Amino acid sequence: MSVILAGVQTLLQHHHRLQTQPEDYRPERCQQCGRSGLWCHGTYTRKANRRGLECDSDAPVLIPRYRCPACGGTCSCLPEAVPPRRHYLWDVQQQVFLLLLSGLSLNQVAQRLAPSRHTIRRWWQRLRQRFALDASLLRSDFPDLGRATGFGPFWRACLAQMHLSEAMVLVHRFGAIIP
Ligand SMILES: [Zn+2]
Repeated sequence: MSVILAGVQTLLQHHHRLQTQPEDYRPERCQQCGRSGLWCHGTYTRKANRRGLECDSDAPVLIPRYRCPACGGTCSCLPEAVPPRRHYLWDVQQQVFLLLLSGLSLNQVAQRLAPSRHTIRRWWQRLRQRFALDASLLRSDFPDLGRATGFGPFWRACLAQMHLSEAMVLVHRFGAIIP
């Protein structure tokens, strides 16, 4: 499971934080054996797609990597802005979900934003499939979200008070796999 640095919600914040406080990215313990004192082990480049939001190409993002002196395992630490398993950043996904939650159709959203209709439909289905788990975990931290019942009302209420990336980091902290 990846380590995520919470609160770094934009690529600009990420670049700044890496330059000024790189230590913030070092995980406390090895993800494999639990030993502390991980060593820096270079960086790798992730593509992060923000098409449709302020830019029209993939921006390469540097991700720091660490190595465990005990077991030799490596791990990396992602800024909150970058999803572990999806190419598009959370802010693009959030924009898509907000439009769908406002009642637009998949076709209408695909006409307005860069991700294809196929991709949008996949994200939307996945968000629906994981709704019960996401909602129960998020409600344990934000009890007022318990007042919003059902998929649409819940996510409208949730995204009115936090970024999608924040919600996903909270869910990740409970051990759930996030996209
Ligand atoms: Zn280890």
